[in-house]
Amino acid sequence: MLARESVAFLGLGSNLGDRLDSLQRAVDRLDADPRICVDDVSSVYETAPVGGPEQEPFLNIAARVRTRHSPRRLLAACQRVEAGMGRVRTVRWGPRTIDVDILLFSDRVIARRDLQVPHPRLTERAFALIPLMEVAPGGRLPDGSSLAAALARLAPIEGVVVVGSQITVPPADDLPGAAPPV
Ligand code: ATP
Ligand code: CA
Ligand code: CA
Repeated sequence: MLARESVAFLGLGSNLGDRLDSLQRAVDRLDADPRICVDDVSSVYETAPVGGPEQEPFLNIAARVRTRHSPRRLLAACQRVEAGMGRVRTVRWGPRTIDVDILLFSDRVIARRDLQVPHPRLTERAFALIPLMEVAPGGRLPDGSSLAAALARLAPIEGVVVVGSQITVPPADDLPGAAPPV
């Protein structure tokens, strides 16, 4: 039997090569997974790297997805997209063609060694919160606090600049078992 559908929010970033192309290809590859449907993507933001070595600025987006994966299988799917696009892990927080993180997975709290949800650094990162709030209007953390309040605590915001709406949502591909349109 198919797992129930959940709504999750992903954060994507790229600072190597053709960054916009990498973001679009990652969105398309995620959506090509039969258990993932990308429903919405945020504007693209250019953001200053945080932590790690000196490196080029990132482009970041957030995506709202519906998925029939469990959180761990969704993480595995994100990692397959990264690996399939040739991401090589060198230094922590170093440059990468594509990074796909799970920011939120419905209202779940997960504290495993290999998966923490909400993403453990989400509320410290304007570059993740700002795009997330676009695709999760009125969004809340599992503790009920608002994303807007988390962002307000980071003021003044620096190093996050909107550059446009270049990433497109792939055409709707209803998940197997979804109710037919009326
Ligand atoms: P950061 O986690 O600070 O954003 P990063 O994205 O550069 O850093 P990675 O090298 O991509 O870190 O991932 C390191 C590990 O983080 C992954 O192997 C994964 O097991 C773990 N991880 C834990 N929670 C999450 C999450 N919510 N989303 C993605 N990866 C996670
Ligand atoms: Ca990350
Ligand atoms: Ca990551």
